[in-house]
Amino acid sequence: MIPYKTNPKNLTTMRFINTMALLLLFASSAFAQESTEETGEFLKDYGPLNAMAQNIALICWAVGLLIALGYYVKLSTTKGSKEKYDFINKYEIKSLWIAVIVLIIGGCFFANASITHLTPVYLGVRIFVTAAMGLIVAVIIQNLLKFYYPFYIEKRLKVLRYMPRVSPKTGKAMKLLSEEEEDAYLDEGMQAEENVFSVDYDVWKDEETGYIQIEKYSGHLHALQCPECNYQTFKVVKEEIIKQPTDTEEGEINKHYLCGYCGYKAKKSVVLKMQTKVIQSAATA
Ligand SMILES: [Zn+2]
Repeated sequence: MIPYKTNPKNLTTMRFINTMALLLLFASSAFAQESTEETGEFLKDYGPLNAMAQNIALICWAVGLLIALGYYVKLSTTKGSKEKYDFINKYEIKSLWIAVIVLIIGGCFFANASITHLTPVYLGVRIFVTAAMGLIVAVIIQNLLKFYYPFYIEKRLKVLRYMPRVSPKTGKAMKLLSEEEEDAYLDEGMQAEENVFSVDYDVWKDEETGYIQIEKYSGHLHALQCPECNYQTFKVVKEEIIKQPTDTEEGEINKHYLCGYCGYKAKKSVVLKMQTKVIQSAATA
């Protein structure tokens, strides 16, 4: 189990939920008072309105489920481990989050699809309570997706990254080269990138035919496990070149890491090999 740590972000979330709950309490007491009065009724029959709200709810749920389903269909039809890896890394949390929002909106409409009584005050209370409940559920799910879900994603990404690649030449499994072996196949620019920009190149070799497949993995897009809080939220945020390598001397670069969960920061100094050409690119965003 993940050790639970209190941190500023978590506190903000807790405070938000507490405030919302308190406001809900006020709103429901207002509702209790209002429900005893029979003045200012908007309509005689709320049937058509209720039916409309129910239909909107059903449409939202259908759309939400389709978004999630569409994602998994697209994923399962994506060929190749590396392509799947990139697809999951880029779209899984985003797609699920959008689906969740649409489902919650559907839930909000459904919660208001059996109205028998509606006055101006009661309308205000209903809108407020619905929005507050929706927000609470959204914040809870957003936290789950942001902090717990990445563990599950990470496991699957690891499997995909190290799943033996099949050589298109022979149809046999290829071999993943070690860091030392792979340098022979990476050009100067790629090696510099590996040094500087938290980019990892995996080189797969078909030993029978010598066929080489190179895959690029970016550290900026992919978070590591935080040494402090253990969440999968530790990312390179900045890289600064302390010393440019020359033909005769090694260079040095500092990589700055920041945890998106607990805010833990770390700095790692990395030696740049001699004669490495440092590519300045947008990767240092
Ligand atoms: Zn952390």
